[in-house]
Amino acid sequence: MTTLAELNLLSTPDFVAALHGIYEHSPWIPERAAARRPFASLAALKLALQDAVVRASQEEQLSLLRAHPELAGKAAIAGALTAESSGEQAASGLDRCTPDEYAALHALNAAYAEKFGFPFILAVKGPTGGGLTRRQIVATFRRRLANPPREELAECLRQVHRIAEIRLNALLGVELPFGPAIMDWAEQLGAISDDADGLTCAYMTGAHQRTAQQLAAWMRDADMDVHIDAVGNVAGRYAAADPGAPALLTGSHYDTVRNGGKYDGRLGILLPLALVRHLHARGERLPFHLDVIGFAEEEGVRFRSTFIGSSAVAGTFDAAVLEQRDADGTTMRAALQAAGHDPAAIPAIARDPASLLGYVEVHIEQGPVLLERGLPLGVVGAIAGSSRYLVDLAGTASHAGTTPMGMRRDAAAAAAEIVLLVERRCADGTALVGTVGQLAVPHGSVNVVPGACRLSLDIRAADDAARLAAVRDIHAGIAAICARRGIGHTLETLVEAAAVPCAPRLMDRLGAAVERAGLARFDLPSGAGHDAMALAPLTEVAMLFVRCGNGGISHNPLETMTADDADIAAAVLLDFLRGLA
Ligand SMILES: [Zn+2]
Repeated sequence: MTTLAELNLLSTPDFVAALHGIYEHSPWIPERAAARRPFASLAALKLALQDAVVRASQEEQLSLLRAHPELAGKAAIAGALTAESSGEQAASGLDRCTPDEYAALHALNAAYAEKFGFPFILAVKGPTGGGLTRRQIVATFRRRLANPPREELAECLRQVHRIAEIRLNALLGVELPFGPAIMDWAEQLGAISDDADGLTCAYMTGAHQRTAQQLAAWMRDADMDVHIDAVGNVAGRYAAADPGAPALLTGSHYDTVRNGGKYDGRLGILLPLALVRHLHARGERLPFHLDVIGFAEEEGVRFRSTFIGSSAVAGTFDAAVLEQRDADGTTMRAALQAAGHDPAAIPAIARDPASLLGYVEVHIEQGPVLLERGLPLGVVGAIAGSSRYLVDLAGTASHAGTTPMGMRRDAAAAAAEIVLLVERRCADGTALVGTVGQLAVPHGSVNVVPGACRLSLDIRAADDAARLAAVRDIHAGIAAICARRGIGHTLETLVEAAAVPCAPRLMDRLGAAVERAGLARFDLPSGAGHDAMALAPLTEVAMLFVRCGNGGISHNPLETMTADDADIAAAVLLDFLRGLA
């Protein structure tokens, strides 16, 4: 077994020889990384290898991809793979394909090679190292075949790095202390769903209550004091020796969107749970209470009201939402009572800010920024503020055949200009995004010039001034477009929410822990809302983002992350907790 310390001391040729199997037939990669020794951590070594590829010419990158065999291809059948590749393909059962599966893979390999000019590369050992199924492999193959070439080249390189990560773990005999348990728990929770296929866990449904019970059971196993509160939050405390000590809050939500991902929200509960289990096993106490809270609701799926769990903790729960009805007409109050909760006890959930050290939330990024930078972790600087509007445009409905083009007042044509205006204006700012997510011609007809159009606007930025400036420009632009076209317009404000800055004190501590893990600190804004937003009025907040695979897709069954990323995120949070002492 090789160690990192030994790798650091080897001559360059010996270092290259020791790592010869990590990147397929490409000794130039360890050769270029060798100069960056000594590596303080395995993460630093992985990043240096990755960096050698990032800095290489496109020619070299393509040669690296072309050094890989096709999956279940001719080389595999002829037994001409490297030992590493043949082991990996066998672990996924690719050496035991049925004739139909071989034929399908053969056709996919051919189509892929023709489109991209390099072989399809997939880390077949998957996110946990346990191996993807042949079905998953074929589905991924089909999906990626549709990618644009530039995107697919980047994805292949990321898969090459993931393969290298798994091979390095094997070479160095790495046992991840936290990641596998977190991934396994997420898998088990992901199987508890309101729907037969896919993961849906909506507020106070049967699946939701079973999920809460499962979380509570795991927390109890880790020696936490656990209760499920009146709003459905699963609150576990890993107590300090001193009962009067302050508390640090951490957690996230356990509800999901319809057909959602397994890690959105849940990662932020399961990761600290893995840490508590570790601390408990070592007999190590923190000088503060660590409160891990699985928030009952954040997504707003069933009652069109978001942050139900975290707002109760923050003391901002709005009792009026108890009368909201779901699609079946059940009020939230009735749903709570049916689950055995007492809505009258919700106000008592509110925490006293004087007893708190702050709130730290770990969350999957739900976007591609970390993935594209090749970084497992990021420190959130602020949660974006948002402005949302409904715009109603009023033109004149008239005959599509008889109204000359110059005499129309077409509400949909005005809307089209507005969509492009939003896209153009929001492309200006770095952290500014704008979306028209709803666009409708009410009572539209194929042979009528649209007399009305309704569209939504969603504009977000981590910087309030940047958002408000964009909002002003877009409003002025809408007025100008409508005036020129003779279209009336009204604008209804749905949301005006300021950005929530994270506490620099906590961000710096998280950032320092990221650096001690051998990674570069990278700060990014959160474009999505999170429970941290609801807790900000109560206490200082911070967030750690974890890389999201599959192009950064989330709110989707394709949402994915790796055990290695979960593990390093856990190590960073543990370091942060110990430092906070
Ligand atoms: Zn979430």
